[in-house]
Amino acid sequence: MTYDLTNRTAVVTGAASGIGAETALVLARSGARVALLARRADRLADLAEKIKAEGGQALAVAADVTGDLTDTAATVHDAFGRVDLVVNNAGVMLANPIAAGRTDEWRRMIDTNITGVLNVIHTFTKDLTSAAEEGTADLVNISSIGAHLTFPNFAVYTATKAAVTHLSANLRTEFGPLGVRVTNVEPGLTESELASHVDNTEVVDELTTWFEGVGRLTAAEVADVVAYATSRARHVNLRQIMVLPTKQV
Ligand code: NDP
Repeated sequence: MTYDLTNRTAVVTGAASGIGAETALVLARSGARVALLARRADRLADLAEKIKAEGGQALAVAADVTGDLTDTAATVHDAFGRVDLVVNNAGVMLANPIAAGRTDEWRRMIDTNITGVLNVIHTFTKDLTSAAEEGTADLVNISSIGAHLTFPNFAVYTATKAAVTHLSANLRTEFGPLGVRVTNVEPGLTESELASHVDNTEVVDELTTWFEGVGRLTAAEVADVVAYATSRARHVNLRQIMVLPTKQV
């Protein structure tokens, strides 16, 4: 399904796969110019080609959200001008018991899922507040249902997502009065590459069993929620959305 996002300029992080790639597609199909950010340049180039072949506008910008995004923003501005729709989607999920002491994984998750989100917000805040003065500005953070759940092996990942959910709620108090709509999306189990980075075979087996039990959303189904929320009338803010497979409780 498509929506009316004509004349909007979007940045989607983590657009190389999964929810980010599908979000970029639906935003472009809805009329937005879309800058695709992630580290794998080849994936982004393929997606940009696909969008252009469909008649949409896309720009592939290889970027790591944990680093300095000044040049990235300049590239986006040169091509598309001011950004008015930011989707903070890039994220990693690495699962192991805390006792394993995998500080490398903790750091990657904190750097990507929290610091990366903050970097992107910081980079595009001026764009959003300026666009808000003219009536269009959306910040969407992709958190997770994990922000509310407790289960073994995912303590750090779920803590980063709880941080994103809390950050979104707080930011809304700063940005909302300025006219920047803040939407926090909390997906449940969704088909993507996310679990492929887990290196603990027991946890992978658990995840597989879980997925088989409750099923999965497609990444396109989550993307649809993002496009829906950002295309509502300006005074309507879907500030917190949980989207789950029906059998996931
Ligand atoms: P994917 O692994 O398919 O997508 C993650 C994306 O993030 C990739 O495109 C990856 O591209 C990008 N990424 C990772 N690290 C960085 C970085 N440092 N800088 C820039 N981009 C980065 O998984 P999903 O689509 O599932 O994940 C998207 C979001 O959805 C995540 O925030 C995840 O936590 C959240 N989520 C997913 C759920 C699920 O069940 N799948 C459930 C709830 C939330 P590249 O490697 O090229 O940089």
